[in-house]
Formats: sequence, structure tokens, C-alpha cells
Amino acid sequence: MTQPLLSISALTAGYGDFQALFGVDLALNSGETVAIIGANGAGKTTLMRTVTGIVRASAGAIVLDGAPVHTKAAPDILEMGIATVPEGRKLFPSLSVEENLLIGAHVRKVKGPWSLEAIYELFPILKDRRHQPGTALSGGQQQMVAVGRALMSNPRVLLCDELSLGLAPVVIRDIYAALPKIKASGASIIIVEQDIGQALKVADRIYCMMEGRI
Ligand code: ATP
Repeated sequence: MTQPLLSISALTAGYGDFQALFGVDLALNSGETVAIIGANGAGKTTLMRTVTGIVRASAGAIVLDGAPVHTKAAPDILEMGIATVPEGRKLFPSLSVEENLLIGAHVRKVKGPWSLEAIYELFPILKDRRHQPGTALSGGQQQMVAVGRALMSNPRVLLCDELSLGLAPVVIRDIYAALPKIKASGASIIIVEQDIGQALKVADRIYCMMEGRI
């Protein structure tokens, strides 16, 4: 049995005195797409934030290909190959679409399938809009920029937090259509999704979170 690429075990985390995660176990195998579903407040975003080093684990472990992640700072975790499409997109408002994308490549310079050209092939509308400020785009286009920015670091693991939040069904379809291509490029993917139907369409396995537990 081969080891999972990303392994989360007995993970506990929270905000100050408030505990949000209670001994979470999760495994992501190489080449897999895993979805995490669950109601508002279940702890999905906190789990993503703990994996990316924004929130510190108070107990348990996160291991990427044998290397501990939970002891590292956020920039080092990105450098190890874990990139995130954060909830709410969080584009840099003063930067153009292309500059937002380039930021993703700036932090982790490794050879891989993703370049500006490849992102523009994945989301052609971004090429037309590349000189516009990211914030001048529609919500769906902004989400494409956020996905592209994360991919520009050529991550081994891509975390996507609620890609479909606030978007129209036709736009969600376009964004989700990119996931199989991203998977085919070699990245392993975790998506957080409240829409179970959407999660079932793309995921190899699904974890359900409730009150900070799997
Ligand atoms: P949503 O779908 O609403 O994003 P979620 O499953 O991602 O929900 P989290 O955002 O991880 O859930 O929230 C888990 C718990 O942690 C909730 O009780 C929430 O109120 C709390 N929480 C989240 N962020 C913070 C914060 N910055 N400070 C304090 N408590 C927080």
C-alpha cells in the first residue's frame, strides 16, 4: 500500500480558546480529487487554513510526501507545493489580471505544466482581460484568476475553497470544467463544496464534516 500524498491525522485547531477542529483525519492520494462537504460552520475552511499554515494546529499532524507541514509557516508550505484558491478569491485589487497570475509564480519557481500561456488556454477570457484590474471582472472571472494564480506555482496539491460560492450555475459549470484538466496535469486536488451534486461530479472520494469532525 503506497502512502497518501497528503496525510492529515488527529488534527486539532481553532481560534484562541475556540476549538474548530476535533481530531480530523483525511488522506489525499497522488492524482486524486477529494471533496469535503458540510454545512456552514462545520470547519471546512478552518481545515484548509490549517493545511496552508494560516491557522496553526494545536495537535495532530499534516504530512506531505513524508515531510511535516504543520510545523511550517505559510510561505514555506506554499513552497513545498500546497497552493490554495481561498474562499472569496482574495485577488490583489490594485493589480491587473496578469499581475495577479504572476504573483502565483513569484512565490514558487518550479518547472511544471502551468505558465501564463497554459492558464490562458484553460480560461481564454482571462487573456482578453489580462490588462484589466482583477476587480473589474465578473465574480466567475475573478474565480478563474484565483484558480490560475494558485496553479502558477505548479502545486502538487491544490486546495479549492467553495469555488461556486455566489456564482451563477452556468459560470460554476465553466469553472468546474477546468478541474479534470487540472487533475490531468498531475495535481492532486481537495475541493471544499457545499453543493453535494457538484462534489459528486468531480470527486473520487468525499469526506463529510460536521461540527469540526469528519
Ligand atoms: P462556511 O461554509 O460558512 O465557510 P466552514 O465549514 O468553512 O463554513 P469554518 O469557517 O471553518 O466552517 O468555521 C468553523 C467554526 O470556526 C465556526 O464555528 C466559525 O464560527 C468559527 N470561525 C471561523 N473563522 C473564525 C475566526 N476567524 N475567528 C473565530 N472563529 C472562527
